[in-house]
Amino acid sequence: MDTKYPRRILAKIRAHFEDEQKHLEKRLGQIDESDPYKDPDHANDNADIGLDVREEIAHQQSEGNRDQLKKRLSEVNDALERIDKETYGFCTGCGKMIDTDRLSSNPLASLCIKCANSN
Ligand SMILES: [Zn+2]
Repeated sequence: MDTKYPRRILAKIRAHFEDEQKHLEKRLGQIDESDPYKDPDHANDNADIGLDVREEIAHQQSEGNRDQLKKRLSEVNDALERIDKETYGFCTGCGKMIDTDRLSSNPLASLCIKCANSN
């Protein structure tokens, strides 16, 4: 590889991802706490249908959010791993450098535009 990202820039990107990683882990923890199904006292066989429905909706919302956050967190972890391996910024498909415009609009991108489009 002829061009590598300067360490100074990688350090900045890494710090940014580490922040996001912490933030996502915190959010995931909060979602676990707010999920009514995690609450041992949550309404079981409750006569109040309305409460059951509200709990079901809250549960599904937190499941949806959790899936999204988990997906994002694993992408952030992958990017951090690529920084450690010094492969960050290179396409995991073809090994070429990812266009910097693409990377600045989506720092988590692991594929160049060509490979992303052929997937
Ligand atoms: Zn590629």
